[in-house]
Order: sequence, then structure tokens, then C-alpha cells
Amino acid sequence: MRKYTERYKNVAKKLIRKSFPHMMDFPLIVSETNFFGLNYSAGYTYGLFFGMILVNKKCRNYSNKAIVGLMAHELSHGESLNKMNFRIFLKFLIKWMFTKKGKSEFETLADRMTIEKGYAQELYALRLNINKKATNERKKIIASKGYMSSKQIRQYAENIGKW
Ligand SMILES: [Zn+2]
Repeated sequence: MRKYTERYKNVAKKLIRKSFPHMMDFPLIVSETNFFGLNYSAGYTYGLFFGMILVNKKCRNYSNKAIVGLMAHELSHGESLNKMNFRIFLKFLIKWMFTKKGKSEFETLADRMTIEKGYAQELYALRLNINKKATNERKKIIASKGYMSSKQIRQYAENIGKW
């Protein structure tokens, strides 16, 4: 288990140094977990003074590219939260907690940030990985949660010159 946690930590560290200035001096816990069942690859949890990325055990066999995409998506959550002032954070939190739209907008925002920061190929690899195994019904659920499809990722990246 420790070997995998180290892998995720190293990827996160490199990404922060290169592309996530708002995460630079923010304490971050990275760990592997059994907690997610099969549906989620990873999650970002937020305390006011620290962030935490939990990675599902099922990601052990993901390619390096997909892991970079995964961690960039989670760090994008962290960075977008760190950039909010307290009033905006409270507004966001209420919308996130009580509406489906709040949650799905948060996911789309993280995907877009990941692409804007130059990790479109990596996010694409991650989503392909997930889509490959998903039934059509499952794909619909993933889309309704705000995650961009591999096609949308490519399209958005091409539009902004980041493919
Ligand atoms: Zn997310």
C-alpha cells in the first residue's frame, strides 16, 4: 500500500511545483483508500487548513499518464477552493451540499482547469480508462455528474490550443 501512496505523492508534488502555485504552501495529505467502492477513482477532501486526496485501490493498474490526469483533476479542486474567499466558499459549499448542479459544476470546473493547465492528454487517458469499462448507462451517470467525456476533453483542449 505504501508503495502506491508514494507514487501518488510524487506525482502530486511534481504537479504542484510545475502548475499549481496556489497549492504550494498548503499542507496536503495523499493516501490510498478502500473507501470508494468501484465508482470513484479518487476524491478531494477539504479542511480549512489542509487538503486531502484519497485514491481508490482500483487505480493501482492505471498508466502513469492516467495517474497524472487523476492527480491534476484533484489538485484543480484544491486550487479552486484555495482561491475562494470565505464568503464565496460558504456560498459554494451550500450549493455543493444541497444541489446536484453544485456538485456537477465543481467537477466540470476541475476538468477544465486540468486542461487549461496543459494536462488534456493525461485527463483524456484517464477518462478513456474509465469509459472502456463502463456500460452506456454508467456513462450517462458519469456525464450527469459533470465529468467531461474523452471526446469533450479533446474538443475543449483543441479549442483553446492545449491539445
Ligand atoms: Zn473531482
